[in-house]
Amino acid sequence: MIATDLPRDDRPRPRVSVVVPCFNEEEVLAETVRRLTGACTAAVGTDYEIVFVDDGSRDRTWPLLQAFAAADGHLVAVSLSRNFGHQLALSAGLQLCRGERILMIDADLQDPPELLAPMLAVMDQGADVVYGQRTERQGETAFKTGSASLFYRLLNTLTDVDIPENVGDFRLVTRPVLDALLALPEQHRFVRGLVAWLGFRQVAFPYARAERFAGVTKYPLRKMLRLAVDAITGFSVVPLRISMWAALLCFGIALGTMGYGLVSWLFFDVVRGWASLIVLVALFAGVQLLCLGILGEYVGRMFMEAKRRPLYIVREIVTAPRPDATS
Ligand code: UDP
Ligand code: MG
Repeated sequence: MIATDLPRDDRPRPRVSVVVPCFNEEEVLAETVRRLTGACTAAVGTDYEIVFVDDGSRDRTWPLLQAFAAADGHLVAVSLSRNFGHQLALSAGLQLCRGERILMIDADLQDPPELLAPMLAVMDQGADVVYGQRTERQGETAFKTGSASLFYRLLNTLTDVDIPENVGDFRLVTRPVLDALLALPEQHRFVRGLVAWLGFRQVAFPYARAERFAGVTKYPLRKMLRLAVDAITGFSVVPLRISMWAALLCFGIALGTMGYGLVSWLFFDVVRGWASLIVLVALFAGVQLLCLGILGEYVGRMFMEAKRRPLYIVREIVTAPRPDATS
C-alpha cells in the first residue's frame, strides 16, 4: 500500500531521520539509497527514516524515488510542485521528517553517510548540533573554494553571528534544535546561518569532502550568488550603511573639486571643466544608484516576507508502511 496523504504523524518517532534534497540526481540516487541505508542500519538498526525531497527535477529523479519509497518502508519520497531551490527543499524535508535526531545531507555523496555513527557518538556526549567541517575538498574548482573562502570572510565581517568557514549543510541536529529552526518564519532561508544563529551546543566534526559520485553540480553561479545575497541580507544591515560611507567619500571629492575650481577661477583665465564635471556627475549618479539598489534589495525582501506565502508546495508524498511498525 502506498500512502500519499499528509500528515504522517501517527507513526512512532524514529531515532534518526535523514533529509536529502534532490534536484536532477537520477545518476546518483540508487547509490545514495544504498549507502544511506547501510549507514543508518549500521548506526541504529531499523529505527530510522530517510526523507528524499524531489525539488522539481526534470529528469527521472521522481519516478526513481517513488519506486524506492514504495519498496522500502524506511524511505519517504516527497515531491515539491516545482524547483524551489536547495535551501527550501531542505526545509521541506526538515518539516516533514519525524526523527529524534536529524541528519541533513546532499544527494551526491560528497559527504560520506558512514559518518552518521561517529556523529551520533559526538551527540551522545552532549552536543546539540554536530556540523561537518571540510578539511579538504576533492574535485572542486579553485574558483569554488576561493570564492567560498572569500564569501565566508565577508559574511563574518558583516554579521554578528559566527558562521563557521568550510561548513555546508551536512550536519546532525537534535529534535529541540530542529523545532527551534522550524519556528523561524523567514522565507529567504540560509539554513547553515540560521542554525549558527540558534546557539545551543555546537560541535565541529572535521571530515574530507569527496567528489560528487556522479552528475554535475546543481549550483551554477546564479544560484551561488543568490545564496550569498540571501546570507548577507538575512543576517546583516551593514550594506545599508554603505550609503553613508559613500556620501562621506563624495563629500570629500566635492570639497576637493570646489577648491580646485575656486583656485582656477581666481588665478587662471581659462574656461575649462567639462571633463571634471562629467566625471563627477557620473560618479555621483553611480553611487546613488548603488545605494538605491541596496535599499531596493532589502525593501524587496520585506515585500516578499510581507506576503507570508508558504515556503514551498508539496505535490505528493509516497511511503510504504514501515516493516517494524506496530499496529
Ligand atoms: N539541490 C536542490 N535544488 C536545487 C539545487 C540543488 O535540491 O535547486 C540539491 C542537490 O540535488 C544536492 C544539493 O542540493 O543534493 C547540493 O547541490 P550540489 O551538490 O549540486 O551543490 P555543490 O555540492 O556543487 O555545491
Ligand atoms: Mg555537491
